[in-house]
Amino acid sequence: MFGLPSVKLGRPFGIPLEIDASWFLILFLVASSLTTSYFPQTVPDLGPVAYVALGLGTALAFFASLVLHELAHSLVALAGGVKITRVTLFLFGGVSQMEDEPRGPGHEFLLAMAGPVTSLLIGGAAWLVRQALYAAGAVEAAWVPFEYLALINVMLALFNLLPGFPLDGGRVLRAVLWAITGNLLKATKWASRAGQTLGVLLITVAVFGVLNGTFDFIWFAVMGWFLSTLSASAYQNQLVRAALAAIPLRQIMSTPAILAPAELSLAELADGYFLGGRHKTYPVLRDGHVIGLVSIDHVNAVARGDWPSTTVADVASRDLEKSVAPPDASVESVLGMFDASGPGAVLVVDEGRLSGIVTRSDIIRVIRESVRRA
Ligand SMILES: [Zn+2]
Repeated sequence: MFGLPSVKLGRPFGIPLEIDASWFLILFLVASSLTTSYFPQTVPDLGPVAYVALGLGTALAFFASLVLHELAHSLVALAGGVKITRVTLFLFGGVSQMEDEPRGPGHEFLLAMAGPVTSLLIGGAAWLVRQALYAAGAVEAAWVPFEYLALINVMLALFNLLPGFPLDGGRVLRAVLWAITGNLLKATKWASRAGQTLGVLLITVAVFGVLNGTFDFIWFAVMGWFLSTLSASAYQNQLVRAALAAIPLRQIMSTPAILAPAELSLAELADGYFLGGRHKTYPVLRDGHVIGLVSIDHVNAVARGDWPSTTVADVASRDLEKSVAPPDASVESVLGMFDASGPGAVLVVDEGRLSGIVTRSDIIRVIRESVRRA
């Protein structure tokens, strides 16, 4: 999200789940404030080990609540046929990166509501457990964490329901505007404006608080700044996406594609192709057929001493199905193929014949131009 490294957690339901590095800071802050302040105040007279265990356990349960919130969004997206590229948890929650826009306003509405509804259900369930434990006469240390989880999940739902895009509430607003105007771009514009306005309001509340001598609302400033920035960039992303959707691959592809013969050595490839060449990925040709793609990463994975004796065919990726598109496909439709884990190039194939290639550098160039115009 902020260019920090993220940690991969696995693939529940086939959805790649990642944690942004900023989240570890939040986990640490939540766990330490629970350990040193919340639990010692609400459950007095326990030992330090008990407080650390309560703090860490509750912080991890909060983290699990966040994961469930995001998975709910992703599952509704998947049910509507929208592929999820990845889910990243960061500062105030998570972001589900989708390959496409929701199918329509109805789908977007359900998709947006799934997260807050899940948080409210978790909060409600935690409250019921708290009540049951309390009624059964359990010790405070047993039911206080559930009370906290109930509260934090309700707060999470309420924060995410603020009507500023790209928060869940902003998505609900966008769905409504989309349904009224029939125009996704216009709907995004107004939902983002609402987010920016809301951000400024939150900052204003914090400033008034400080002027009146209280720092209780200082978190509003952080959330407000966060929301304003996120809203502004979300609308710009939307503009760029719309621009890219209007550009066909044939317009930006290199043609004829520069091909690397299968028997070429890596040393020859490095000198003749990567050095001074514009691209970092080339299709590999054997007997007139493209058999794979070779990228600068493949070459760098081999020790330099072995470059003269290793051929291009030895290291090329053969997974071609995921990197082929027709010339009429839009740049926007192939963005998912340029994921960090992907091959970094799209072969443009017209009626079974290779007519050109689009590489990561082509995509970056088009995105830069679209951003400048947006
Ligand atoms: Zn959400």
